[in-house]
Amino acid sequence: MLLSFYVGVIIMEYRILGQSGLKVSRLCFGALTIGPMQSNQPIEEGAGVIAKAIELGVNFIDTSKLYNTYPYIRRAMEITNNKDIIISTKSYDYTYEGMRETVEEALKALNVESIGIFSLHEQESVYTLKGHGEALRYLYDAKKAGKIRAVGVSTHNISVVEAVSKMPKIDVVLPIVNYKGIGIGDGTIEDMLKAVHNAKLSGKGIYSMKAIGGGNLLGDVKRSFDFVLNNEDIDSIAVGMQSENEVMANVLMFEGKEVPEDIDSKLRKTKRRLLIDTWCLGCGKCVERCTIKALKIVDGRCVVDTDKCRLCGYCSSVCPEFCIKVI
Ligand code: SF4
Ligand code: SF4
Repeated sequence: MLLSFYVGVIIMEYRILGQSGLKVSRLCFGALTIGPMQSNQPIEEGAGVIAKAIELGVNFIDTSKLYNTYPYIRRAMEITNNKDIIISTKSYDYTYEGMRETVEEALKALNVESIGIFSLHEQESVYTLKGHGEALRYLYDAKKAGKIRAVGVSTHNISVVEAVSKMPKIDVVLPIVNYKGIGIGDGTIEDMLKAVHNAKLSGKGIYSMKAIGGGNLLGDVKRSFDFVLNNEDIDSIAVGMQSENEVMANVLMFEGKEVPEDIDSKLRKTKRRLLIDTWCLGCGKCVERCTIKALKIVDGRCVVDTDKCRLCGYCSSVCPEFCIKVI
């Protein structure tokens, strides 16, 4: 289903997220980037970025318990006086009680009576899905009680997308999809797209993550967006944004429009840096890959020399844990 909403010259497209029935904007605001794990913006500043996206028609926000961004989202809803935003959040909880506490905390922190989508975060295999059976049981109960509207699973792995397609009570899948297949844990982008297609046929709502490969495809944002936008199986695409200019540029690109030169020029001048996520295992594969020797292992974790790093992103292509991002 395709609906349109006009904001000035901008047309925001909405789609129905599979069996969840939720109507979401094609552009989903990825909240990780504004929070403490990445750009660590003051609440008012980060909330202002989300509010800009809401003003331009974005009604869908992706976050997680881990990201610590509920205060930004709550404040953005206050600024825009809009409580109809569909929030998708997730957690690693695996027990019934743990997940119950997490959902209650989220409802309170966001100051809402119901959350759009609550997902198991970053499932790695059929076995981890089984291991989270009790947490899922709580999510199904929470849906019946109206505390959440849909149950989801986020993953970097094809085998999980395939398994979830056979689980009728899961409404939404959040897989990693980008044209280079960066970050896919167990196969190629072609395999992932087949699994996503089958998930779609089984009634799942699909919204994808990491369209620009965790910042590693920033050199070709248009190609990266076109790849996911031209895939009819994908209802919405979560994109991390950390400034109002990024919001404006992404909204325009999602509409196939040109980004004005002044905005484009400011974005090109944005200072970027390499981020090594905390779950780095210190395997050293990235150190071997970096020919200019900008990486080393210190106390079992990779550390970057920012004076040397040219942000080429080559090191991220060999990281088995998808730890290396450009932000
Ligand atoms: S982004 Fe490029 S220069 Fe920077 S650490 Fe990685 S491989 Fe080295
Ligand atoms: S390749 Fe990834 S996991 Fe290995 S040391 Fe580098 S960042 Fe850490």
